[in-house]
Formats: sequence, C-alpha cells, structure tokens
Amino acid sequence: MTPPPIVQISSLAALGNLPALARQLNGLGGCAQPIRLDGHRTTHHLDTTTGEIGGVLHHLNSRDLPAGHLMVRCNNRRTTRCPACAETYRRDTYHLISSGLRGGKGVPEEVADHPRVFATFTAPSFGPVHNRPGERPCRCGVRHDQDDALLGSPIDPTTYDYEAAVLWNAHAGPLWRRFTIHLRREIAKRAGLTQREFRDHARVSFAKVAEYQKRGAVHFHAVIRLDGPSGGSTPPPAWATAELLADAIQTAATGARAAGPVVDGRPHTFAFGRQLDVRTIRSRHFEGGQNLTDRAVAAYIAKYATKGAEAATGTLDRPLRFIAELAGLDLTDHARRLIRTAWWLGARKDLADLRLRAWAHMLGFRGHFSTKSRQYSTTLGALREARADWRRDQAAPPAAPQGSTLVLAHWAYAGVGLPPGAEWLAASLTPGSTKGAAA
Ligand SMILES: [Zn+2]
Ligand SMILES: [Zn+2]
Repeated sequence: MTPPPIVQISSLAALGNLPALARQLNGLGGCAQPIRLDGHRTTHHLDTTTGEIGGVLHHLNSRDLPAGHLMVRCNNRRTTRCPACAETYRRDTYHLISSGLRGGKGVPEEVADHPRVFATFTAPSFGPVHNRPGERPCRCGVRHDQDDALLGSPIDPTTYDYEAAVLWNAHAGPLWRRFTIHLRREIAKRAGLTQREFRDHARVSFAKVAEYQKRGAVHFHAVIRLDGPSGGSTPPPAWATAELLADAIQTAATGARAAGPVVDGRPHTFAFGRQLDVRTIRSRHFEGGQNLTDRAVAAYIAKYATKGAEAATGTLDRPLRFIAELAGLDLTDHARRLIRTAWWLGARKDLADLRLRAWAHMLGFRGHFSTKSRQYSTTLGALREARADWRRDQAAPPAAPQGSTLVLAHWAYAGVGLPPGAEWLAASLTPGSTKGAAA
C-alpha cells in the first residue's frame, strides 16, 4: 500500500472526527466508486388510528455525516469497475444459485431431491478461429500457448461472419426464451401430457448466466430444475427424472430458433451451436459418479457473473459514446472489428430496436447477465434488502413506541467517488459489512 498522503489526511482530520469518517467509509465495504448523495431523512411517529404524523424519532442530514454526504455502494457487478461490489455480487449470485439447488433463503430443502441439471449452451460457428491451445497444433498448423492472444480470433478475418456474430449476441436472449418454450413442450411430450395438462403436474425453473467465449460470442450456463406443480415446495411427479430432463433439453436446444432481421437481402435465423453440454447435478442422497456437486455449480456460475465481454474477449467494460474513441484503446483486432460491426449495424433504422450502438461494448448482447425464473430461488434484490436491514440494525434509530413510523426522505445525486483524501483511508480499512458468505 502507498504511504498515507499526510497533507490530505491532516486536512480531513481538521474537518472533524477521523474515527467517525472511518466508520462511515467502512460501511461501504470497500466500494471504489461510491455514490454521494445530499439530502435528509426523517423518521416520524405515525399514529395508525388517527393517521396523524407525530414527533420526529430520528433525523439524518447528509451535512452532519463525517464525509459531508450520504454514501452508498455503486453495486457495479464488474470486477474491472469495482472489485468490492463485484465480490458482493458474486457472493449474492452464489447464494441465489445455491439456494435453488440446496434450499435456504426461503427455498425448501427438498429442492435438493428434485431433478436438476447444469447445461451450457454455445453459439454456432461464424468461421474458423484459433481455438486449440496445448500440445496438439491448432487447425492453423501452429501450437498455441494457453495465453496466446490469437486464441479466439479468426484464422481468416476477411471471411469471418462478423455481421452474424454480432446479431447472434443481439438475439441470444430471445433464443433462450424460445428454448424455454420448447423445453416445456418436450418434457410434456415425454410424460405423455398435453402442454395444458403439464402445468398441473410439474414446473420448470432455471437460473442462468451469460458468459463471453474468447471469440466474443455469448454463451449461457444454466441450472434447470424440475419441480412439482407449485414449484420448489411441491415434489416432482414420479416420471420426472434428471435423465428425462436432460433428454428434453437436448431436443429443445437443437430445435429452438429465433427469427432475425433481413440485412441487405440476407435473412438471419439464430440457433444454438452444436456444442451442448448437459450434466446431472448430484442429489444429496447420491454420492460419487461423474455428476457435479451443487456447490461446484453455484461457485462456477457466481464466478462468471462478475465478468463482462472485457474479460474473455478483451473489449470494453463501459459504453462507447463515439466510434472515434476506439482508436485510442488497446484492443485486439478481433474485438475492434466486432465493436465496429455493432456500431455500423447500429446506424440502420430497421435494426433500431436492437440498440446496437448502446451495446457495442457488449458486442451486441443487451440481455441481463444473470436471470432466473420466479420459482427458482430468492432474488438479488431480496439479498440486498437483507443486507441493508442488517446495516440499518447496526445504526438503529430508537424503536417506535406503538403504532407505525413514516419515513420522509429526499436525496439528490452529488457525485461519484470518495471525498478527496479519503481514498487512502478507505483502502486501509477492511471491508466489514459482508458477513457469513460461504463462497
Ligand atoms: Zn462499488
Ligand atoms: Zn491457430
């Protein structure tokens, strides 16, 4: 760690109470880009019988806080933007995936006995790429090291289908939705049920994350679970096995299609690539075999949740405002061409709904990074809320007498980042507010 900037620290100390400032910064859990807010919050007593607003129980004004602002975490999920918030996001994602596999956080433990698989869905080929590191030579005839910058880039960039590669990313979300519709149909068919009957017998729930392959194509990792008719709290029917689920996933993934646009007379249709990996997740009563453990799956998914296109493909972790910005950036030729293609397609009126310029840094993908069906488990929002409650308890205003309270608050955005001089202080603190995370 760099030595403390004495001048800045002493000017901070002159402002007031250094230990109090340390406490306030500590509550940010190490966030590198906290959001500063100006304003106030007043908690009043509320008489529930008369509806009258009573006396002030607690008053907070940002001016009175040690930093002079209320500071909240940026909650950015990307490691490259905020390591501390990305770590919180990773832990939350772990708990979200894990509770859907093992129970907990309001999900019954019985889900651990339901058929569950872990599946990876890839993009099709857009042209041959350097893709084989290790001892055997790549198809280009050369041996590549694991960290060779050529890996994932096209063998012949002039014939690589950049247009389809970007449009595929832009349609990956709709293609996933088509897949889930196909999947319900395929499961029902295997159980000898009509789709209408299926709803009374079983329910499919899932959680998925998007990851970028080196070549810049999005692929999905998903946990898919088969429950009884009311979700995780009801046992699945006798016919519902992990084998049946895996078989239905294979057929549904192969058959799913998303209609794309016609670009200069060329119609696009999108499907998943042939490389589909479906594995059964070990139940709590079955040890051994080649099956995955639920912990391994949750950890794997959580790890990918904090990465964007910048991690695998070497592109950008924030949107471009002008294409000219590209010139000054250290990017691979392949990433540059993908971004340029998205930018160029983004100028077309007929593709306006894909918002390709706004998502050029994501190589066209504008879907949510991690999504799940309602029945799968808890939500990131619920986990955040629980953490905020815990923090609130740490600095609890006096409990209201009877009746209820009314909170009146007004906050205005004051900026991003720590106040001057506080960076060193913040970096010297150990994040203190995330406790009990298992990942
Ligand atoms: Zn942050
Ligand atoms: Zn090669």
